Amino acid sequence: MTVLIAAILATFSIDLQEPRSLTPDSTIAQDGVAKKVAKLVSEVSADNLEHSINTLVSFETRHVLSTSDDDARGRGAAQDFMENRMRSFIASSGGRLTVERQVTPVDARRLGAEIEVVNIVATLRGTTDPDRIYVVGGHYDSRNSRGSDGEGLAPGANDDGSGTAAVIEACRVMSQAEFPATIMFVCYDGEEQGLLGSRAHAQKLAESDSVVDGMITNDIVGNTLGMDAVTRDGYLRCFSYAPRGNDSMGRSLARAATRAAGRIAELDVMLVYRGDRYGRGGDHRPFFDAGYPSLRFTEPREDFSRQHQNITERNGKPYGDLPEFMDFTYLAKVTQLNISLLAELASAPPPPSVVRVSGARDAHDVRVTWQPVDGVSSYEVVWRLTTSSDWESALMLSEGEYEAGENRRSGAVELRAVLAGVCVDDVVVGVRCVAGDGSRSRVQAAPDGDSFDQGRQARGGGRRRGR
Ligand SMILES: [Zn+2]
Repeated sequence: MTVLIAAILATFSIDLQEPRSLTPDSTIAQDGVAKKVAKLVSEVSADNLEHSINTLVSFETRHVLSTSDDDARGRGAAQDFMENRMRSFIASSGGRLTVERQVTPVDARRLGAEIEVVNIVATLRGTTDPDRIYVVGGHYDSRNSRGSDGEGLAPGANDDGSGTAAVIEACRVMSQAEFPATIMFVCYDGEEQGLLGSRAHAQKLAESDSVVDGMITNDIVGNTLGMDAVTRDGYLRCFSYAPRGNDSMGRSLARAATRAAGRIAELDVMLVYRGDRYGRGGDHRPFFDAGYPSLRFTEPREDFSRQHQNITERNGKPYGDLPEFMDFTYLAKVTQLNISLLAELASAPPPPSVVRVSGARDAHDVRVTWQPVDGVSSYEVVWRLTTSSDWESALMLSEGEYEAGENRRSGAVELRAVLAGVCVDDVVVGVRCVAGDGSRSRVQAAPDGDSFDQGRQARGGGRRRGR
């Protein structure tokens, strides 16, 4: 029996001494999805981004307590602008884009008031797998030095007009193309008052057992001049939560972002292995809490004189969050990165739901087992040293290069491959699905030997374990 199993495994064992291992970078250039992404990102307009931000700023404040009844001032005017702008994309979307106001009564504890939180949600329905959702958001509400001030100027150009403008521009560009999965473009309300809009949205999705395979928040993504007077415009920071270790679903999404950055000229992603900056929060948090993979994009070095400040000057130094301090060329690159990431994930199949690894008893080989995904014939096994932040090696397996068998306990079909010469104790291994156009899913990583808590919410299991 042992001999037989060894013989079977030998058939599907890949000798890693041969140059069959493909690094993510070497596979990224030629495939079909690369062409699709290249065309989409070429359509991003820095002028559109600047126009959106100037318009949002012209309403003087977008605080949750600001007026809803004025055409030219306050949150109501901003909501009309965002909704009308995204509605203008419907006609050329082939009927797949819908836009709605999602209104939720919320007890805003920070303000001691019951308010209506209004998210503007544009949904681009997927063609073949519409029940799988990706969410990209920015928050349109703003604030000044006093968090409860609904009257005074709160331009919020960068925090978070930048993320809001990126979401609207991504919606414009992407709604002209087709994707198998659904993408939601959301302008969130009430972030500054305790993540009110994103929490309402995440809860709504979780209550309806929606499958959200990734949520991205863009918050403070349009300034490149640090407080040290140094301009940094070559990278973007990417924060992701993990309850323990480095392999949460959010971290998996973050590593998909580094891959997506490989398709964008002059922009890298810096992975930060913490959920957010010290003492700060963002709209990705409620999605993490709901068990969904989520991440936060933020510029390299924030200038705190531009955040939550009244417009003033002290000792010759200007304060306030105004468009004149922004870098729209950089914001265009950030928008391109969002499109690259969303286009790939929404084009690809979902990730495998379960991946397991074990060491061989008679050799330093890794046995990898995963659940097949409907309609998928190619998978990519990826791995890295436990101390490395991102995937270092990739091995493409097409039909015939992996084995199908029955799980001894459950009887379910599972797929198997062996990484010959790799020591299971030294690496983290994951599997992603590959579509015909070369698009890759998020990686599902095998759990560590001492923890077995892969999350299920993203797959519609309704549980809130491991994220
Ligand atoms: Zn913000």
